[in-house]
Amino acid sequence: MPERTIYLDHAATTPLDGRVLDAMLPYFTTEYGNASSIYTLGRHAMQAIDSAREQVADILGCRPTEVTFTGCGSESDNLAIKGMAFALQKKGNHLITSPIEHHAVLHTCQYLERFGFKATYVPVDMYGRVDPDDIGRAITDQTILVSIMYANNEVGTIEPIAEIGRICRARKIPFHVDAVQACGSLPLDVLELNVDLLSLSAHKFYGPKGVGMLYARQGMRILPQLQGGSQERGKRAGTENVAGIVGAAAALRLAYEDLPKVQPRIISLRDRLIAGMRSIPGSQLTGHPTDRLFNNASFVFQGVEGESILLNLDLLGIAASTGSACTSGSVDPSHVLLAMHVPVEQAHGSLRLTLGKGNTDEEVDTVLAVLPGIIEKLRQLR
Ligand code: PLP
Repeated sequence: MPERTIYLDHAATTPLDGRVLDAMLPYFTTEYGNASSIYTLGRHAMQAIDSAREQVADILGCRPTEVTFTGCGSESDNLAIKGMAFALQKKGNHLITSPIEHHAVLHTCQYLERFGFKATYVPVDMYGRVDPDDIGRAITDQTILVSIMYANNEVGTIEPIAEIGRICRARKIPFHVDAVQACGSLPLDVLELNVDLLSLSAHKFYGPKGVGMLYARQGMRILPQLQGGSQERGKRAGTENVAGIVGAAAALRLAYEDLPKVQPRIISLRDRLIAGMRSIPGSQLTGHPTDRLFNNASFVFQGVEGESILLNLDLLGIAASTGSACTSGSVDPSHVLLAMHVPVEQAHGSLRLTLGKGNTDEEVDTVLAVLPGIIEKLRQLR
């Protein structure tokens, strides 16, 4: 087992920032009150949540009352989509989304289809981009929600969110954006983006796992999906994860404070990775060549299985990811790549490397030194 992991899977999750851990620690130890309790310890917890909410609102450019803390990005997506659909079902039953969304959105739409809702999946181009005009054309008098991701988790393509938002607003259709991958990398001002609902997840930007956030513009009616107490102004029952919420807000603030310093360094590492991977015979960059997340290098390799590449990299202590998913014993190619019309055979050979602020030039050198040999060896084994 190699001594140190070369971690190149920051789109899956990120390590907790030490400064975030420091901010969280008191809420695991001395400040353990329940935020609903009216004595001093409880009030401290509530003050910490209030202050966290203000920090999040500050970054999003919204009111603190428009921010709800949840248990993860998936829960935020569920709350936004199911919450809006069930609240608005008397108005209409039509949802619009894209086929490259995360399963937290796709499976939620499919679930709603079992309850009489109808979903349109607007196509994407070969780079995974949604055409805003297609959204406009898909809107009917039954449409109650549009949900499009800000940036794709597999290929890193950035969607024209502000433009889609402008079209939705002109037609008075609520617009939800899954910004789970974009957060920490792209501007998040909800007014400039023309969004009504926005989902975030703290573990994607050096915050703790198990904390999500949902921005819902004032006036959006959302039916809560968890019944119980009146926490989060009735939108999400359950005793608050105070330490997690404090950590999420600190991580969000730090992510945007650090961005000017972190971004140019990661871009130079990413560009070296892309150039090196491009020179491997039978490789193809996936996602948009320029409008992509600055930490994402995703490829398909002809004639190899993504899983086999991962396992070989893992033996060398390199953590990476593939878009294929193992379901009931067989490997399904990524739904994102298939929607982008990548041929099935190529889609099986996908590899996603996503950089973070801890990666170094030496790590990129190591990966580029071993990857061509792994691909070559796997091709010969077929
Ligand atoms: N949406 C996108 C685009 C994601 O990449 C992810 C996680 O990978 C999620 C939603 C789900 O977030 P969480 O892991 O916090 O449930």
